[in-house]
Amino acid sequence: MSLLETQNVVRTYGKGTTKFDALRGVSLAIDKGESVAIIGKSGSGKSTLMHIMALLDQPTSGSILLDNQPTNKIKGRALNKLRNQTFGFVFQQFFLNAQDTVLENVMLPLKIAGVTGKRRKELALAAIRAVDLESKAQNKASNLSGGQKQRVCIARALVNEPQIIFADEPTGNLDSTTGEMVENILFKLHREKGITLIIVTHDPDLAQKCQRQIQIKDGLVVEGGE
Ligand code: ADP
Ligand code: ADP
Repeated sequence: MSLLETQNVVRTYGKGTTKFDALRGVSLAIDKGESVAIIGKSGSGKSTLMHIMALLDQPTSGSILLDNQPTNKIKGRALNKLRNQTFGFVFQQFFLNAQDTVLENVMLPLKIAGVTGKRRKELALAAIRAVDLESKAQNKASNLSGGQKQRVCIARALVNEPQIIFADEPTGNLDSTTGEMVENILFKLHREKGITLIIVTHDPDLAQKCQRQIQIKDGLVVEGGE
């Protein structure tokens, strides 16, 4: 049974003469517990598709189904809540709060979810442990190496026990050894916690480590959609 489905998704940017269809009818279904790579050349529509699948952006037409439920009517706070509970995000540029500690960064999604006090700290520390960064919990995020920063991002993505982790070029800013370590953590979470992974990547080696490769070309799925 599919966890996340896109049905004939079109995303048009701009108006009039600058109008451009970044996605031209994307239908695909992702099962619970799958690991999927979204691949394709720069400008093919991968980020647009990921943003739409993660309910960060809305399609111009077409639908997104989560657990077979349409999502188009969910708006505002309810949408934020759904996203925060269901998805974790890992980006190439990290997006950590540099002046805050590792622990504070990882507690943030719990704060948004309304988890308070001791439990918030315990859950955050458990996620920090899962990425082997216990010893850095009280360090400022700005003082960490790139690989450590990305591990903090994974802990932050993980802390609400999401069904899906979306990773947009998660190793794009890392050297290959560090990148591999970050990949290993993501795939360990996939194996051991059954988290669905959706990874946008240019890296063929990373793509091959996923169970399925969905190739996007000029706003259409050309391979791996089924
Ligand atoms: P990819 O992630 O594969 O590089 P994107 O989804 O970022 O592709 O972009 C797909 C196409 O849509 C590109 O031609 C890009 O320039 C265009 N595009 C993306 N975002 C916008 C936007 N906000 N406004 C206008 N065009 C955009
Ligand atoms: P990626 O490296 O992930 O493909 P891009 O550099 O294509 O990312 O895009 C980065 C951000 O800028 C994305 O959020 C995308 O939607 C936006 N963007 C991309 N192309 C355009 C564009 N032509 N006009 C406006 N925004 C764009």
